[in-house]
Amino acid sequence: MQADTLNRPMRDLRISVTDRCSFRCTYCMPREIYDDHEYLARSEILTYGEIARFARIAAEFGVAKIRLTGGEPLLRREIEKLVQELSDIDGIGDLAMTTNGQLLGKQANALADAGLDRVTVSLDGIDDKVVRAMIDTDVSVDTILDAIDVASDAGLGPIKINTVVRRGWNESQIIPLIEHFRGTGHTVRFIEYMDVGTTNSWKSDEVVRSADLLTQIAQKWPIVAVGQAYRGEVASRYRFEDGQGEIGFISSVSEPFCGDCSRLRLAADGTVYTCLFASSGTDFKLPMRTGASDDDLAEILLGVWAARDDRYSELRGAAPLDFPRVEMSYIGG
Ligand code: SAM
Ligand code: SF4
Ligand code: SF4
Repeated sequence: MQADTLNRPMRDLRISVTDRCSFRCTYCMPREIYDDHEYLARSEILTYGEIARFARIAAEFGVAKIRLTGGEPLLRREIEKLVQELSDIDGIGDLAMTTNGQLLGKQANALADAGLDRVTVSLDGIDDKVVRAMIDTDVSVDTILDAIDVASDAGLGPIKINTVVRRGWNESQIIPLIEHFRGTGHTVRFIEYMDVGTTNSWKSDEVVRSADLLTQIAQKWPIVAVGQAYRGEVASRYRFEDGQGEIGFISSVSEPFCGDCSRLRLAADGTVYTCLFASSGTDFKLPMRTGASDDDLAEILLGVWAARDDRYSELRGAAPLDFPRVEMSYIGG
C-alpha cells in the first residue's frame, strides 16, 4: 500500500468522463458562465481505453472503488462500454456512478448489464418549482424519480440521493425528501454547499450546517448515529429508530474529513488531482499518448501520491482560501 505524507492510502478513484452537462445547477455550472464556455474538445478527452489503462494501474496501488462522474457521465456516448472495461479490472470491488438522473431511466439496464454496481442520483427537492430553480433546466422531478425506480429495478440500488442544501433555495425540501424516500431502502444524503471552483460565487452564509438539519429532522423522526462503515466514508450516517432506513450528511464545510481522504481524481482530459479543491494536477494524457509504458505511468502516479499533503477543507475555516481552484464539473464531484 502506498501512503501519502499524511499516511492516507489510495483507495477511491473518481473519474470525470466529461466536463459537459445537460443541467445548469446554480451551485455548480451557473448558466451565465457555462452556456458560453469553452468545453474540452473531443481530442483532448481521454478515450475509454486510456481511462481503463489508468484505472488498471491505480488498482495495482490499492484502488478498490471507482466512481464515474463529471459533468454528466451519461452524456458520454456508450458509457456502458467503459463500465464493462472497468468492471473487468481485478481488485475493483465497487463500481458506481453519480448522475443527474435525466438519462438514467433509458440507460439503467445497459449499465447494470455492463457491471455497474450502483448509482447515486442528485436531486435537490421534491417540489418541481424548487428543483427547476436549483438545476435551472426544464426537467421535471418526475423524470428523475421515475429514473430512480428504473435503476432500482435494474439492480443499481439501494440508491443514494445527493441533495445539496443551499440557504434561501431549498431548505423547504428537507422534510419532503425524507418523507418520500423513508422506507424505500434508498438513502438521502444532505451535502453542505461547498466552495468548489469559483464560478458559483459561493458565500459561507448560504451553507446550511448539517448539525442544524439534524436537529430539525430529529424533532420529526427519532434517529440514531450509525458508525463509519469503512475508513474514509464521507457521509455521517443516521438511522431512523422505527426501522425505516437511513439518511446521511456530507459536512465538508462544518466538519472536514480530510484526515481519512483516500480519493484520487482523474479529470476528463487526463489530469490527475489529489484534492477536490486543487489548483493544479499532473498530466497523464501526454505520457500515455507519447509511448510511456505502464511502469512509467505507475512511477508518476506513485510520485504524485507519495507527495500528497492536501487537506483543503481543514485549512479553509470559515472562508475560502484565496487561490484559483478547478471547477466541480471538470474535476468531478
Ligand atoms: N452531474 C452529476 C450529478 O449531478 O450527479 C455528477 C457530477 S456532480 C458535479 C456530482 C455531485 O456534486 C452532485 O451530487 C452535485 O450535487 C454535487 N455538487 C456540485 N456542486 C456542488 C457544490 N458547490 N457543493 C456541494 N456539492 C456540489
Ligand atoms: Fe451538472 Fe451535476 Fe453540476 Fe448539476 S451538479 S450542473 S447536474 S455536473
Ligand atoms: Fe479530500 Fe481535499 Fe476534500 Fe480534504 S478537501 S476531504 S483532502 S478532497
